[in-house]
Amino acid sequence: MLSNIRIVLVQTYHPGNIGASARAMKTMGLENLVLVNPRCFPDPEASRLAAGAEDVVDNARVVGSLAEAVDDCVQVVGASARLRSLPLPHFDEPAEMADALMANAADDPVALVFGRERFGLTNDEIRHCSHQVSIPANPDYGILNLSQAVQVLAYEVFRAWRQRPGSDFRAPRPSHDRQPTREQLGHFHDHLSRVMQASGFITQPHARTEEQLQALFARARPSRKELSLLRGLLSSLEDGLDDA
Ligand code: SAH
Repeated sequence: MLSNIRIVLVQTYHPGNIGASARAMKTMGLENLVLVNPRCFPDPEASRLAAGAEDVVDNARVVGSLAEAVDDCVQVVGASARLRSLPLPHFDEPAEMADALMANAADDPVALVFGRERFGLTNDEIRHCSHQVSIPANPDYGILNLSQAVQVLAYEVFRAWRQRPGSDFRAPRPSHDRQPTREQLGHFHDHLSRVMQASGFITQPHARTEEQLQALFARARPSRKELSLLRGLLSSLEDGLDDA
């Protein structure tokens, strides 16, 4: 279950923060670290601050984009001190986030995403998330050091894991309950945009409309089964347009 939980650090500037995050993870039973374009890695400073968690650093996967890091995940939670303009579902309580994440991690990969030390996550990166979470903190000084933010959220995940109901041995969730991966959701939105253009609803790609629809489906949280129903509907509309 914990192995389905991935920690993603986006473009970390200080290699020491990578090591300290690895240590924070390992203390809470998390080992799956993905680095998106780190400035300087591998680096002795990362290993030094990892203390006993060099294995987490050594096994970290380095990728070139956030999409690559999270496309196979069914839930992607972006950690952010500030509320962004994008209307994604937002967890004000890390504990609630961890309970939801743990439920999804029983069957599928999920990710917690952390931004750069200087300016956090870009709006485009937040678009790759399904949810956001903030750690409640001093309104006058509420931004934590990157690895300390990892520690707080990793602790909540570990707490949710310890308190999970039932035993480890339970039947997998049926597919009508399971959330689609980010990649499956991305294909759906591409399909929707194609049909909106082909039908004349929009005449060219229209970011604002697409964003609003993405927010709508992020709130609705369609299951895999519902998403394939919508894909079927879009395909039949497309066929109708071709025949017209
Ligand atoms: N200066 C950046 C914050 C950088 S802190 C900004 O203004 O956005 C580095 C990362 O730690 C953030 O991107 C976020 O992922 C995490 N973080 C720091 N404080 C946090 C908080 N209070 N709640 C949630 N995440 C936080």
